[in-house]
Amino acid sequence: MTLVGVTKGASAEAVREAVRLGLDDVGENRVQEARAKRAALGARQDLQGPGRQPVRWHLIGHLQRNKAKLALELFDVIHSVDSWALIETLSRLSQTRPRPLEVLIQVNVSGEPAKFGCRPEDATGLARAVQRSKALALRGFMTLAPLCKNPEAARPHFRRLRQLRDEVLAACGLPPAAGQLSMGMSQDFEVAIEEGADFVRVGTAIFGTGDRGQET
Ligand SMILES: *Cc1c(COP(=O)(O)O)cnc(C)c1O
Repeated sequence: MTLVGVTKGASAEAVREAVRLGLDDVGENRVQEARAKRAALGARQDLQGPGRQPVRWHLIGHLQRNKAKLALELFDVIHSVDSWALIETLSRLSQTRPRPLEVLIQVNVSGEPAKFGCRPEDATGLARAVQRSKALALRGFMTLAPLCKNPEAARPHFRRLRQLRDEVLAACGLPPAAGQLSMGMSQDFEVAIEEGADFVRVGTAIFGTGDRGQET
């Protein structure tokens, strides 16, 4: 299980401190904010002590195609792939990467109209599209549960993502390594772990509300 520390709204200094204390995976939901923060942090070698792997940067928010090129310079893993058009763009722009770009397919399991993510019935088709691209490597599936005070309310959505993952891997003949689950935030990460999360994305429980206290 990987803890992705979500640093949106946190300062570059807070990120540096978290990495110093042992955080290896950093999540940002906006490309521009990640760029500013990474510039402020300087060369990635400065971030971690001896014997540590370089920090892995995860894009967890919606990616517009016109920001894809920049996103590829900043991020190691993209959790928010949810359309054929985006897969096509990322695949084309990743041709020259030394290693395939790691992606997860974001699924809108709750079906809330305001949410990004593909429809559950499109997940297999999108997984096949990623599978066809030599420049991309499918790592799994991501979802956001509806915001709710009661973490138990998130459980059916996490369970649904896990079942969907099982269906897609079986349909595409993919190995377990292509089916990791990115689910759970400060509010509901414990339930997500019980339901099989491989990545939890935790922001406020680590960094406080900062200047985004009004957002949720
Ligand atoms: C902000 C954010 C998180 C973290 O939320 P917290 O409630 O602060 O833990 C996780 N995932 C996504 C996609 C986010 O935008």
